[in-house]
Amino acid sequence: MNLYDFMSDLNYEGLHVFTDSDSGLRAAVAIHDTRLGPALGGTRCVTYVDDEAALTDALRLARGMTYKAALAGIPHGGGKGVIMRPKGDFDRSALFRAYGRAVERLGGIYITTEDSGTSPNDMRHIRKETAHVVGIPPEDGGTGDPSPSTARGVFRGIEAAVAATLEGRSLEGIRVAIQGVGHVGHHLASELHAAGARLWVADVNETSLARCVAEFGAEVAAPGDIHKVVCDVFAPCALGGVINDQTLPELDCRIVAGASNNQLLEEARHGAMLRERGIRYCPDYAINAGGLIHVAAEHAGHTVESVQSQIEGVGDTIRLILERATLEGVSEREVADRIVEERLEAAGNRA
Ligand code: NAD
Repeated sequence: MNLYDFMSDLNYEGLHVFTDSDSGLRAAVAIHDTRLGPALGGTRCVTYVDDEAALTDALRLARGMTYKAALAGIPHGGGKGVIMRPKGDFDRSALFRAYGRAVERLGGIYITTEDSGTSPNDMRHIRKETAHVVGIPPEDGGTGDPSPSTARGVFRGIEAAVAATLEGRSLEGIRVAIQGVGHVGHHLASELHAAGARLWVADVNETSLARCVAEFGAEVAAPGDIHKVVCDVFAPCALGGVINDQTLPELDCRIVAGASNNQLLEEARHGAMLRERGIRYCPDYAINAGGLIHVAAEHAGHTVESVQSQIEGVGDTIRLILERATLEGVSEREVADRIVEERLEAAGNRA
């Protein structure tokens, strides 16, 4: 990868690299766009094969956060942090405090939170060094787990997509296949069950599955088969890349709408292929924005209750995207990107 060409072509603002030999910190923060406000995005702490893999991950995810924040209508831009997980045992407190000092050095253009491989407790360590962190546990004054807010937004999005696609139908009797019933998937199953939907679930975790069967009377499908279930809505809530050349012809649903990030393995091509098959797609970064709205509230010093109407508003965003996609004759993914690009352009030039 030619780093400068890549960043310049996709309008990145910066890439900041940090080391701290005492704690073993090797980290990077990518800032994509701050025209709508300071960049907000989680920090991953995972094992990367090499430096380039870590930097590429930060850059790719930072741009995604710009799009997600802009579409959710929150005053934030896109950024992402990555920490290369040290080999063997390491002192988590020292590592995350060193990372907190790095975030502090960015002077508030980047606000971090949890992501893969990081926890609310890690955010507590970061908080000792900087105020530019959210996702703090409620007992320490934060807003806690954002998953219920993510699930609520996905629920509203599914409701809007069903009404738009199935002639104004409510969720009563609608068949939904959920791939992954972890934090978000379980909350989503609960909301759908309460609304009268019929559920199929798949997970590699037997305990999570058993809970859904007991609580919601869900039927179980094998992880490799859940996308093939004959249903109205397929809801990916586990992994990225699940809409691909292999699964796409096997889908037997009217709508794809779930919480996972990066559901389309190849955004443009698989978005267009869904459209050709007559399957409506709720773009992942539009429908799963509830959690981001939740953590942005924490940054602004607001309660989650005070932004509930914004979380519910995910349904309006989905309705708008589906309507425009029909009118403009393009994929839902393309419409979502266009709306973001219009908003970023309206924000004017970078300072
Ligand atoms: P989670 O880890 O709590 O749940 C994921 C579930 O998927 C787990 O129960 C896991 O066992 C299961 N799973 C793993 N591999 C599977 C497979 N092959 N088939 C079926 N199930 C499998 O994660 P989460 O917080 O619920 O997030 C779910 C997805 O939504 C992730 O992709 C995440 O990035 C995305 N997301 C989450 C939030 C949030 O607020 N938590 C916000 C936005 C996006």
